[in-house]
Amino acid sequence: MPLNLSTKAKITWCPGCPNSQILVAFRQAIESLVADGSLKIENLVAGAGIGCHGKISDYLNVNTFTALHGRVIPAMTGIKCANPHLTVIGMSGDGDSYSEGLEHLIAAARRNSDIKLFIHDNQVFALTTGQASAMSPKGFKSKTTPAGTTEEPFDAFAVLLSAGATFVARTYAGDIAGTKRVIEAAIRHKGFSFTEIIQPCITFFDTRDYFKERVFWRDGDTSEKSAAGSTSDSPATNPDEAIKLSRKDGEKIPLGIFYNVEKPTFEEQLINNQQPK
Ligand code: SF4
Repeated sequence: MPLNLSTKAKITWCPGCPNSQILVAFRQAIESLVADGSLKIENLVAGAGIGCHGKISDYLNVNTFTALHGRVIPAMTGIKCANPHLTVIGMSGDGDSYSEGLEHLIAAARRNSDIKLFIHDNQVFALTTGQASAMSPKGFKSKTTPAGTTEEPFDAFAVLLSAGATFVARTYAGDIAGTKRVIEAAIRHKGFSFTEIIQPCITFFDTRDYFKERVFWRDGDTSEKSAAGSTSDSPATNPDEAIKLSRKDGEKIPLGIFYNVEKPTFEEQLINNQQPK
């Protein structure tokens, strides 16, 4: 039977919201993984947190759940521990996991839980109509910061690589083929994978032109590579190098897979610890 990943739920994102492009990329990535036998659709669980990104769980015809604000990661970890045969992916936002639930993000990287997290980063609390998030640029004016924010956004890549993350990547929602390719690689990764998807909010912080001019793929034209199924990003061989690769190069913002190594997962170690010695 052909895979139908669409649901009957009405899409309520603003017309033109890049979340729709992320949804297309997810559907295409899941279709590819199922088609080549890497994924059983009945074993896939997709969670989401609270925010505009969270509506994606209504639009993907797979096993889904919606977590409390900032708490998608502990829910994913619990599901994976309860049934390690499941493939557990989660969507979150910069408000959800960089602002509300940051401690869970760091814990997941430290543990190397075998879960796959995708952050829709629009640098603003969009669902609640435009308040500053932990990723808003310094000086960002909003209803809660009328004089502008005083904090710099933090470097999530440096934080997570320092904490032990085994897969980190960045992509741009406007490039559906490239985003699909990275999503596929992130889901294939064994261990904790962290992918930041730059997703401008066209209603409360329209950064489309800013990012279009600045993002670039470290590995060249990703559309051709996506068609060929390539994942040859030449990731770094150590976390320090990966932090450097992920950093903005002047005004340029690199996309791609910066780090991809294998280590024992949290769930494997839990099972081993329960074996009689
Ligand atoms: Fe998308 Fe922003 Fe509209 Fe939310 S408020 S649906 S992020 S454009």
